[in-house]
Amino acid sequence: MLRFHNTLTRKKEEFKPLISNEVKMYSCGPTVYNYAHIGNFRSFIFVDLLRRYLKYKGFKLNHVMNITDVDDKTIRDSLKDGKSLQEFTQHYTAEFLSDLKTLNVEIPEVMPKATDHIPEMVELIKTLKEKGNAYERNGTTYFSISSFKDYGKLANLDTENLKKNADGRLNSSDEYEKDDARDFALWKPWEESDGDVFWETDIGKGRPGWHIECSAMSTKYLGETFDIHTGGVDLVFPHHTNEIAQSECAHCKTFVNYWLHNEHLFVNGEKMSKSAGNFFTLRDLLEKGYSPMAIRYQFIASHYRQQLNFTEDALKQIPQTLQRFYDFIDKLESLSAGEENSNVSDLITVAKKGFEESMDDDLNISGALAAIFDFMREINKLMSENKIGKSNAKDVLHLMNEFNQVLGVFDHEKGEIAEEVEALIEQRQEARKNKDFAAADKIRDDLKEKGIILEDTKDGVKWKKIN
Ligand code: AMP
Ligand code: ZN
Repeated sequence: MLRFHNTLTRKKEEFKPLISNEVKMYSCGPTVYNYAHIGNFRSFIFVDLLRRYLKYKGFKLNHVMNITDVDDKTIRDSLKDGKSLQEFTQHYTAEFLSDLKTLNVEIPEVMPKATDHIPEMVELIKTLKEKGNAYERNGTTYFSISSFKDYGKLANLDTENLKKNADGRLNSSDEYEKDDARDFALWKPWEESDGDVFWETDIGKGRPGWHIECSAMSTKYLGETFDIHTGGVDLVFPHHTNEIAQSECAHCKTFVNYWLHNEHLFVNGEKMSKSAGNFFTLRDLLEKGYSPMAIRYQFIASHYRQQLNFTEDALKQIPQTLQRFYDFIDKLESLSAGEENSNVSDLITVAKKGFEESMDDDLNISGALAAIFDFMREINKLMSENKIGKSNAKDVLHLMNEFNQVLGVFDHEKGEIAEEVEALIEQRQEARKNKDFAAADKIRDDLKEKGIILEDTKDGVKWKKIN
């Protein structure tokens, strides 16, 4: 039975989607004003593990992740760079997508941009005004928190105390004009510092607040009620709290059934963030020589609801673990003779069951990885005793491949570089045929420098990547 911890109820609950076999899921995406840092990627890698496991379980996915390409920060920094908002945010959106690919993160089915959905946001705000949940003061449209009796349920907030927690992303200078200090902006009027960023609409010349973006885009692509909403724990309040208020007041329906929040990546006891200045981008780490798969594995291997302290020392240990997978797969692929063994299918059943039971329990990754490592140890033992046949090896590889559809960590690098390496191997063979051994050796040495080892076997040249 698949169960997730639901922030709304603070309990693990059995997962039952609205439509059997289909999952409608929304993930808050990046604000594209700079390169995402690896704390952000912890969030997106958690979402990737979740979507891959749902697919493994046989669900069809309709997964939406928005791109926040208009807000205070994108406007401020595009002006600083002397670029249009569009040119500026397009650059960081492209870099974000390229980072996802590097980290072997699957791209969600729909990735809507906020600026492409202004009419939907305006419609939603108009509905809220008509229903008495929103009001206007000097060009700003606010959501009236006192109009929604369930406000703050997700964050377990004492609504009376909310004043103390006033939203940091709001413009505090205009707070005096709100009916209530807790109210938040749905629409902000144009100011000179916005430059040419504005939309002329029925509710005035200006731009949307951050929270309304996600309510409008999730409804457009997933409907008024959907299954799963994800984000980092910092989004529980105010962002997700406000999304619920907006959507439930507008549609009089439950907005989301399961709320899943990942804990933060920390550095020396402090949350990794742009403002604290304690962050690494993916490119920072790649320049230092770390591999994307090591970074991915580090995040995948710790449970999403546990805080994770980032250290380079821990990251340095991971290639050894990955090498165990790579060696295991290489050994199975190049296995020659050996007797077929009827115990292997039992080992496969046990490993699969252990993996699934753990993952079903709110993505208990430690248990799932333990099931895989136990399995590898047993199979390695049998291989060393020559007690594995070709057909066994094929079944084991098939299972490893299924696990990897969820984890996405084995053999990815090999796949990425395979074409290039194989072309060089071909050139080396050509050089040898022409008795140009100097050129052939040079190719081998160059590859070795990049951590790629060639092995001449009777079945041709084999290669592997050493981390
Ligand atoms: P942003 O681009 O700031 O809107 O954030 C994108 C996502 O990254 C959100 O889901 C945040 O909750 C998440 N996030 C930000 N900092 C961290 C961190 N240090 N660890 C984990 N997730 C984070
Ligand atoms: Zn959002």
